[in-house]
Amino acid sequence: MCDAPKPADLLAWYDRHARDLPWRVSPSDRAAGVVPDPYVVWLSEIMLQQTTVAAVRDYFTRFMALWPTVEALAAAEDDRVMGEWAGLGYYARARNLLKCARTVTQLGGFPRTRAGLEDLPGIGPYTSAAIAAIAYDLPETVVDGNVERVMARVFQIETPLPDAKPRMKECAASLTPEMRPGDYAQAVMDLGATICTPKSPACGICPWNANCKARRAGVQATLPARKPKTPKPTRYGIAYLARRADGAWLVERRPERGLLGGMLGWPGAEWGDTAVEDAPLQANWTDPGVEVRHTFTHFHLRLSLRVAKVPDTTRAQSGSFQTIRPSDLPTVMRKAFDVAKAALPD
Ligand code: SF4
Repeated sequence: MCDAPKPADLLAWYDRHARDLPWRVSPSDRAAGVVPDPYVVWLSEIMLQQTTVAAVRDYFTRFMALWPTVEALAAAEDDRVMGEWAGLGYYARARNLLKCARTVTQLGGFPRTRAGLEDLPGIGPYTSAAIAAIAYDLPETVVDGNVERVMARVFQIETPLPDAKPRMKECAASLTPEMRPGDYAQAVMDLGATICTPKSPACGICPWNANCKARRAGVQATLPARKPKTPKPTRYGIAYLARRADGAWLVERRPERGLLGGMLGWPGAEWGDTAVEDAPLQANWTDPGVEVRHTFTHFHLRLSLRVAKVPDTTRAQSGSFQTIRPSDLPTVMRKAFDVAKAALPD
């Protein structure tokens, strides 16, 4: 059986210390009857997947200014949304964001149950639980990395991740209250983000310190345990950056499916165990001597570059010459662009 810290203790702490987040209805406003907008909750949760609060703030504010409702987002041009998303990474999320906005608009609003939410594009068990709890105050259990860490410590779960996940979820579910489940879900996440942090948890000021098994045993800093990581492989590639005399650059829109799907990119062969030469057109290509390095979820990339100035009359066999705003490019392509601009002065 799981020891039981009290949700009420955590909620009392949350009432005083909730993080001030642009997408959040504060506990005092919630108590006064302000109801969270499911669009806001959904947008922030999709943006926050695999990304930090600090990285998301500006993107969220900009998206809300451009598209304040789900209907406005549904009506947006795909390229514009992909461009505004550039830099946030995990681009499948941006494509699903649009699909989901359009489905929700057709439905006439967000479904009001977790099961209904989970049927939407790009919404998995975590996001459906988060929206159901935060937007609709349903007693759904929300489990992200912060919550897993808190559960591992409070219940002293020594099994390493990912095997420990079912047990962590069970413990989290055992604590989810019927009263204020939305605030509670956010409270556990805040506890993990601000007090029960990965390296040095501030147990002295933690509202659950009297009930925390790991603290009692003095092992909190070692939990959650993890299996040793297998090292990521490295892939190699060559990107070709051609600039016409009028300032336009040769770019390609990457296929919808796959890594960086739907985003703008530089021509070149697929990345693999070795770098393959595959110039998109005849030009006086030179190597700027600077390699771009980038780490994706499943591999490291080492990208060599070839740069060339080409005449205004140059035609692209595939892709197109365009004026480039760096903010339209995903991070790895922007790194290559920075090198090419320096290597090809006007
Ligand atoms: S007492 Fe310490 S380890 Fe336990 S939940 Fe609180 S901050 Fe985390």
